[in-house]
Amino acid sequence: MAQFSRVSGSVGLITLQNPPVNALSAAVRQGIVDTVNKALQEPEVKSVVICGQNKVFCGGADIKSFRGVMTGPPLIPMIHAIEASTKPVVAAIEGIALGGGLELALACHYRISHTKARLGLPEVTLGLLPAAAGSQRLPRLIGITAALDLITTGRHVTAAEALQLGIVDHVTDQNTVDVALKFASSVAGKPLDARRISLYPCPPSDDTDALFEEAMQRVRRSARGAIAPVACVQAVRAAATLPYAQGLEREKELMATLFTSGQARALQYSFFAQRAVGRWSMPSGAQWDTVEPLPVQKTAVIGLGTMGRGIVVALTQAGFSVVAVETHEKQLTQAKQAIEEMLIRGAKRRGVTPEHDTITYSHSMEPVANVDLVIEAVFEDMVLKEKVFQQLSAVCKPGTLLCTNTSGLDIDHLASKTPNPELVVGMHFFAPAHVMKLLEVVYGRQSSPRAVATAMQLGKKMGKVSVAVGNCLGFVGNRMLKPYMNQAFFLLEEGASPELVDQALEEFGFIMGPFRMSDLSGIDVGWRIRKEEGLAVPDQRTGQIPRMQKGCRYSPVGDLICEQGRFGQKTGQGWYRYDKPGGRVARPDPWMQTFLNQYRATHGLVPRRIDPKEVLERCLYALINEGFQTLEEGIAAAPEDIDVIYVFGYSWPQHRGGPMFYADMVGLEKIMDRLEHYHQAHPDVPSLQPCNLLRKLVAIGSPPIHKWSQVMKTLRSQL
Ligand code: NAD
Repeated sequence: MAQFSRVSGSVGLITLQNPPVNALSAAVRQGIVDTVNKALQEPEVKSVVICGQNKVFCGGADIKSFRGVMTGPPLIPMIHAIEASTKPVVAAIEGIALGGGLELALACHYRISHTKARLGLPEVTLGLLPAAAGSQRLPRLIGITAALDLITTGRHVTAAEALQLGIVDHVTDQNTVDVALKFASSVAGKPLDARRISLYPCPPSDDTDALFEEAMQRVRRSARGAIAPVACVQAVRAAATLPYAQGLEREKELMATLFTSGQARALQYSFFAQRAVGRWSMPSGAQWDTVEPLPVQKTAVIGLGTMGRGIVVALTQAGFSVVAVETHEKQLTQAKQAIEEMLIRGAKRRGVTPEHDTITYSHSMEPVANVDLVIEAVFEDMVLKEKVFQQLSAVCKPGTLLCTNTSGLDIDHLASKTPNPELVVGMHFFAPAHVMKLLEVVYGRQSSPRAVATAMQLGKKMGKVSVAVGNCLGFVGNRMLKPYMNQAFFLLEEGASPELVDQALEEFGFIMGPFRMSDLSGIDVGWRIRKEEGLAVPDQRTGQIPRMQKGCRYSPVGDLICEQGRFGQKTGQGWYRYDKPGGRVARPDPWMQTFLNQYRATHGLVPRRIDPKEVLERCLYALINEGFQTLEEGIAAAPEDIDVIYVFGYSWPQHRGGPMFYADMVGLEKIMDRLEHYHQAHPDVPSLQPCNLLRKLVAIGSPPIHKWSQVMKTLRSQL
């Protein structure tokens, strides 16, 4: 709702009241309509201020209401009524003015903002566009280029930037409502036409066509198939080329298409999924709201390689003191320099001073003695990690939480090497750790709920989207990646090229297909693991790596590539070739074609033409099937957990929700049928066999994703 009061005799103050962010629910919109009418009718009122309760202006539309039928007064007539008011209306912006909140502010004749407020039109991130006239008004106010930037990215701006762009008229660090009231009083009776944005012409540009062409190309490149950014460009183009009323019509048409699209549903699902993962639970019943985290101030990171450096930066930026330990002298010097540089760059980006004086570098474990939490990030070698955990157990004060950044080793085994296994959890960061938003918090059989709560809270403070998962080889993300990668290898054997596989998955929306990704992270990483597992080892009799291992199909193509010293970007050759070691531009390599032809001939494989549809179905459905398996086993607690992991850790396109949401969209029956089809063709690939949970869901009529939990519970209780 909205409350009306009269201040200093002549200023009407309208306060939006809908905690926590004064979202524009039906009641709030009705309240605004009623109170604006009241202010216009009361002759004593000469001007009006609109503000929000609890120092928050307005967070925009109520996203939950998107799912139902719209009730209450619509936004656009309300916005027009405010702009048409004969009495000046001033927006007093504190906290946030986002989406519909900023559109409301743009309807006002003046905008005054607190220095700490943030403003923006983030609708595009939910698969929509600012359709309460935002796409038509913002370009008229700040010009096409700046409006395109804000509307197509959805980025928030600070009050200072908003002032510079011309979105707000004044910024204050005083009480914003008091400043606005005083200002409103001073402009009472002044003419308002020059303050009505809908009457402004869109500021002209030198070559409007070229500007929009360039914007469209840029947006299409980065959108990875998302339609909302493209519609945003079209809407701004309407603002630039059509009269206001016609532009509004175009905005409405574009919004209608977006609103009913699967992409908007996926992005809104993803928005709620990010929040849902914070409400974690463990099989024991312990959960987020019943367990108190341990206090953490002092932290330590062991091993300052690729991951350790990023983790030190992320901890430091989050305000923790860090003891950074590296045994290799040269690595320590290099790490120190790299960390300092990352902190300086990060501080510059955020407009703050770098925080490096809270890091203590050491080549021994002694300074770790009094920290509250340690994150180990040494090589992926169980024997080494065991040794480090034993050292830590001897050095650290009682009660210190011991975390490992392992990509997939057994947390229970590691915990068993310490006297306090309840204090051991996995904190699986993604590279680069100070940038990537995902954190898998892995609980072992003995991890205490407090240990999990502490790691989850630490992740939150580091700005991560943290997901609590159970312990198994590869946890959730890397475990699901394995059948996906295997299918990519099998497709090469059967006739595909790395380019064909990558292109199909990049057109689906991944930033990189599996082969470009593998070149980037280093093909040798998986090779070393497979060698340790005894997989990438030649048979003594034939001298060849067997294509069947433990009764399952195995593709040694990746191993053979590594044997040639082709490790990916770092060696200048991998699945692709690069102009130099460390080069980034992947080019198809004729060598690879020859190699694959020879390989197929050696093994009597007759290449066939592979359709991109087959690439998508085999890679994605195998990954999804493994996702169902992790749900069945309780390793992932809910489909949202898997989807958040894939969107934030593995570049799954957010406008497709995540693998499990995608499965729901495609239809579980279709997924099961296609898996069965491929399993029949490849009976030696068990990961193509639909798992129990998938079968069970199909058997009961493929309920929608939010109803899967009941079936999961039944299946888990039978395990
Ligand atoms: P890395 O090889 O870049 O760095 C490991 C560092 O640990 C080296 O600097 C090494 O000198 C140091 N080290 C070795 N023994 C040590 C000891 N006893 N005490 C202190 N330092 C020691 O490895 P990385 O890529 O940073 O991986 C580290 C861990 O993170 C591994 O478990 C890996 O599986 C995991 N991980 C890696 C990635 C990735 O993309 N690289 C992603 C997620 C998790």
